[in-house]
Amino acid sequence: TMALVNEHFLKLSNNYLFADIAKKVNAFKVSKPDKKVISLGIGDVTRPLCPAVIEAMHKAVDEMSSSASFRGYGPERGYDFLREAIIKNDYAPRGIHLDPSEIFVNDGAKSDTGNIQEIVRWDNSIGVTDPIYPVYIDSNVMIGRAGVMDETGKWSNVTYFPCTAENNFIPQLPDHRVDMIYLCYPNNPTGTVLSKEELRKWVNYAIRNDAIIFYDAAYEAYIQDPDIPHSIYEIKGARKVAIEFRSYSKTAGFTGVRCGYTVIPKELTAITIDGSQRVELNHIWDRRQSTKFNGTSYISQRAAEAIYTPEGKQQIRETIDYYMRNARLMRSTLSKLGYKVYGGENAPYLWVKTPDNQPSWKFFEKMLYSLGVVCTPGVGFGPSGEGYFRLTAFGNHEDVAEAMDRITRL
Ligand code: PLP
Repeated sequence: TMALVNEHFLKLSNNYLFADIAKKVNAFKVSKPDKKVISLGIGDVTRPLCPAVIEAMHKAVDEMSSSASFRGYGPERGYDFLREAIIKNDYAPRGIHLDPSEIFVNDGAKSDTGNIQEIVRWDNSIGVTDPIYPVYIDSNVMIGRAGVMDETGKWSNVTYFPCTAENNFIPQLPDHRVDMIYLCYPNNPTGTVLSKEELRKWVNYAIRNDAIIFYDAAYEAYIQDPDIPHSIYEIKGARKVAIEFRSYSKTAGFTGVRCGYTVIPKELTAITIDGSQRVELNHIWDRRQSTKFNGTSYISQRAAEAIYTPEGKQQIRETIDYYMRNARLMRSTLSKLGYKVYGGENAPYLWVKTPDNQPSWKFFEKMLYSLGVVCTPGVGFGPSGEGYFRLTAFGNHEDVAEAMDRITRL
């Protein structure tokens, strides 16, 4: 016969959100070549790497030039120097004690948040907050776990936890069993956070139901409020039920360098279908990674280590403050103009209600055609995103200020 394609891929929408946006923006640029378009839509950072990171990278490059200090294949879970720095700086100060064997250094959070679903059976059920970072669902679609999409944009085997202004963006626990739950806090796209009390409800749900939480903390460094948890392991019992993803992408501008890590505590287990055995997922993920993952370059890992030095800490803080200053300007301008603005206080994203309940795409076009400002239509992140738009704080000050002036003048 013939080789058969994995048809689950055909269920995925071809209309990739950012490609659609780019198409409309390019058409606008062609029709209005003299109008400067300002993008508040992109999720990429714009500030350069900090000096401590650059210095560490230069040094690592030099080490590669002599046979005495050259590095080839690295340890599969990452170099000890980085895993120890992670434990010492990201976890110990919060009273969380992890062993280096519980840390898996990677090339950023996208790979692991997408691949992690491989280590549990294809017929587990999944639950996601809505709106959502699309990787969680799409990676489950590819393996056939999500089912089929209905006309409202929802997948048949996915439980959605709507997060809207009506529930203050606090997801409610499902009234039925869900095996795998994806949570992302601070949240992309809404920029909202979860209190310890709310997060505890999810951890307790997972403990009661023998479920697993995939906790994406890629924006943890943007938290300003001292009461908001940075790690799910700040919640008692979470080590038994949660995997946590971190990334240097937005923390330190590593979107082009590529480095992050995943935490899988030894206590976290899943059960075999006959119920006879509890299996450590740390071991399963290690087995998976050592077959399929190439590791993160030595240079990138030295770069990541440098953000934990006193200078590095100070320098990445300055960049985060720079972005959060943008967020404050956008929040105050839009609020004054009467927009309902959410997020942007503990996250680099603002989530804004469209005026008069306009559909997201209609409002996107209005912003583009009348102001030359690009936002991201909320519905692109899921059905509950309809009627909202997302702005990011990753632009430079002058552009953000100019965009706010244009909106004010409108
Ligand atoms: N998780 C969330 C919620 C994100 O928004 C992103 C990137 O935008 C990622 C993970 C992936 O980031 P990276 O692979 O660069 O670490």
